Amino acid sequence: MSTTSETQLRSDQDLLAAIEPVSGGREIRDPATGEVVGRAPEHSVADLDAAVAAARAAQPGWAGLGHAERSGFLLRAADAVEASAEGLARLLSREQGKPLNGPNARFEVGACAAWLRATASFVLEPEVLVEDEGGRAELHYRPLGVVGAIGPWNWPMMISVWQLAPALRMGNAVVVKPSEYTPLSVLALAEVLNTVLPADVLRVVSGGRDVGEALAGHAGIDKVMFTGSTATGKAIIRSSAETVKRLTLELGGNDAGIVLEDADPEAIAQDLFWGAFINTGQTCAALKRLYVPDALYERVCRALVEAAAGAPMGVGLDEANVLGPLQNRAQFEIVASLVEEARASGARVLVGGDPVPGQAGYFYPATLVADVANENALVAREQFGPVLPIVRYTDLEDAIAMANGLEVGLGASVWSADPVRAREVAARIEAGTVWINRHGAVDPRVPFGGAKQSGYGLEFGVEGLKALGVPRVISG
Ligand code: NAD
Repeated sequence: MSTTSETQLRSDQDLLAAIEPVSGGREIRDPATGEVVGRAPEHSVADLDAAVAAARAAQPGWAGLGHAERSGFLLRAADAVEASAEGLARLLSREQGKPLNGPNARFEVGACAAWLRATASFVLEPEVLVEDEGGRAELHYRPLGVVGAIGPWNWPMMISVWQLAPALRMGNAVVVKPSEYTPLSVLALAEVLNTVLPADVLRVVSGGRDVGEALAGHAGIDKVMFTGSTATGKAIIRSSAETVKRLTLELGGNDAGIVLEDADPEAIAQDLFWGAFINTGQTCAALKRLYVPDALYERVCRALVEAAAGAPMGVGLDEANVLGPLQNRAQFEIVASLVEEARASGARVLVGGDPVPGQAGYFYPATLVADVANENALVAREQFGPVLPIVRYTDLEDAIAMANGLEVGLGASVWSADPVRAREVAARIEAGTVWINRHGAVDPRVPFGGAKQSGYGLEFGVEGLKALGVPRVISG
């Protein structure tokens, strides 16, 4: 167990040197430039078995420390992340593509430290459920054992922390399987955390879908925390059935925002814009379709076009940029074809929509699409890129029906000058979180999770801790 290097400052080059395999490995390229960032180890299912075995061996000792001591480790882990924040942010920026500035790489690394600290601070006491002449019943939560954490490529470090911090706090060991698109970011994060944590309570297996599938079915894994697409979530449910594994599934969304007639378009434009374009639109709970009443339609469109003009896009390490490329070619092509389909249907592209041909990176310009039908694929599918379709409505009842009309329900938002009216509308939206006059603002103290096919189980806060434990009732 190391306790000496926790405030060590690590550069991105130093972190890369620590995580790259001695030879071989898979080249990872910067989606903004095509340049090689580094080489990721290619772990196999046999490597997964070894990591699970090591985690299982380490877990009882970790569980035996108790909450107060484990919380101390999480606080020191947060210090270690902060000490190496710039190195982590630079590596994240080069691998994922997100700029250092704006709600992007430095913000993400800051969120990792904030979530570690918050998770250390939650109080989880046994609950006394019954206490009367008939006896006493208490509800306790004990650790599950080893938790598998499978993550996506959009917020690779932050989502790993969302999964591993509560799992560790509850006395579990964790095996993380990062996305094959962003393994270096997660390996570097774990490298920093492991300067503080006891050996083998946190392991990373850098493999592809086969390794993810093996993890989801592994007899040595007691729970899977999964964040990714709804299609993969369904595959994980199937893989986990044989071992009746616990699951928390944070899946895809297609978040609606409804602007009410009393909103002030110019006042809300910046928050609307960043609700949609955070992380260049590659965010599960980003605003992905906006419903605007006739009376405000052109004003909202104009205000959003202005906001887009003030958000420079480019290479992540350039301090001026706040929007970056799509992370990978497949996502670029999905976004481009959805915009083309909308344009062909007669929708009006207000700004963007024309990527520069032959450019080095997967840059797709910030794009606003007006006069698009609710049935159009750009609205009905999760486009997961820097595009916002703006759908016109006349009757608020129709807007609510359209917002609720899909099989997913992660987040949603209502925009209004009247908080009472906004809350009435919010109460009718089928989503895990409905924000008022903002979108996507998550808080480590407030439970977060999806409705419908956006998943099940809650993350964050005391509810999130309980999800990483096994309830045990003691009654007598
Ligand atoms: P993805 O589902 O393609 O991949 C996610 C992870 O699953 C990767 O690590 C991948 O290797 C692994 N995987 C793939 N097939 C697997 C299988 N059969 N068994 C086990 N693991 C497997 O998702 P992505 O494209 O990386 O991420 C984007 C998606 O994630 C979007 O739909 C987005 O909305 C969603 N997302 C949701 C949340 C949330 O909190 N609800 C947060 C971020 C992203």
